[in-house]
Amino acid sequence: MAITVAHHRRSASGEPAHEASDLRAALQAAIGELKAIAAEADTDAAEMIEFQIAMLADDELSAPAFAAIDARVPGGALVLTAGSPTSHVAMLARARGVPMVVGLGVPVAELRGHALLDAARGVLILDPGTASEQAFRQWRDVELALLAQVEQASTGPCASADGETVALLLNVADPGELDTLDPARFDGIGLVRTEFLFHAGGGLPDEDTQYRAYRRIAEWAAGKPVTIRTLDAGGDKPIPGLTIDTEANPFLGVRGLRLSFARPDVFRIQLRALARAAMHGNVKVMLPMVTVPHDVDQARGMLEAEVAALAAAGVPARLPALGIMIEVPAAAIAADLFRADFFSIGSNDLLQYVAAVGRDAGELAALAEAALPAMLRLVDHVVRVARERGIEVSLCGDAAGDPQLIPQLLATGLRALSMAAPRAGRARVAIATTRIGA
Ligand code: PEP
Ligand code: MG
Repeated sequence: MAITVAHHRRSASGEPAHEASDLRAALQAAIGELKAIAAEADTDAAEMIEFQIAMLADDELSAPAFAAIDARVPGGALVLTAGSPTSHVAMLARARGVPMVVGLGVPVAELRGHALLDAARGVLILDPGTASEQAFRQWRDVELALLAQVEQASTGPCASADGETVALLLNVADPGELDTLDPARFDGIGLVRTEFLFHAGGGLPDEDTQYRAYRRIAEWAAGKPVTIRTLDAGGDKPIPGLTIDTEANPFLGVRGLRLSFARPDVFRIQLRALARAAMHGNVKVMLPMVTVPHDVDQARGMLEAEVAALAAAGVPARLPALGIMIEVPAAAIAADLFRADFFSIGSNDLLQYVAAVGRDAGELAALAEAALPAMLRLVDHVVRVARERGIEVSLCGDAAGDPQLIPQLLATGLRALSMAAPRAGRARVAIATTRIGA
């Protein structure tokens, strides 16, 4: 069974009564959705869901949130004492524009009192004095005004200071994000993380559910390229019932394409849905965690077989371009050997494997800077191989939206960067102020 989860975008009204009523409605909606899931689940799962429902319905748990609304305390930021900026939760926060700092490395008990969070610079100020609060507010107002300006002037072609065109692409983790986004701000979608479909509850999504979701995304882009990645479960993205939960080292285990090969029943359904959605736009299919050239050949064989089967059954479908993530060092180093139609560099995983620093190892984050010479050399190499082969190459890891890194990425010859929507404004400015000198 597939449950449709409603997605809502909202801006804070600033009115406590309005905000409180929205929170009450959200709690009721969540309880309703969970009840529907519980009704279809087996006894064990239903019991766990009942517990979640009880928590949502518990007035004592929600009272502090209502009290904060009453006191006009602004909410909506996340502070983690551990974790790293390339973890899955950080990626989801970025996609939703939720301010977040991670890896503070202090005991939770110390995080008390009034706090100011500057997520742009990764700073949390506890119990600030009047002077630092004033300075913070001034800085925030300037930042917000700048961002509003950037957002306003953010459609049309994106180019460097010396006129080199750079494709600004969007990363999508949840199609609900598209509801309030103007497609004119982007040159297409460089990465759709399809895990959202597998987290919606109610078991694995069937072919029609997937087809409708991919089609909706393709139609939003109205002819611009849409790169949809096949399921990248495992590692920091476990999916109960699908991923293996006994692996000692899940980042080096059966994740991404490896899991798809281990579960051809699940993979084939996704390939069929993608081939059908390709009838409705410029859909490309991308494989995660590709390690050896045979991976692409095997996946291509499966895709071609599904397209042929759909054709034989009279179902409209098309063979989409098939590209690969370059996020395993073996694929980066030997990129010339892969029979892929395009490359997209996954700097988050590539970085963790090159630096031997896990995405969740916040305390080692300084060792895993995307500006690491070894990383930049790999990016440079992959871009060169792509150019020699005449295929497209982009970068869709978090480094793509980092204004500090953008000049170095452009210097490697990259001309396509894909990022979470909230980062696009600043990235556009960084590109526009970079003189590449190519
Ligand atoms: C990456 O690894 O850089 C990437 C884009 O994929 P994900 O963050 O989803 O693993
Ligand atoms: Mg990855």
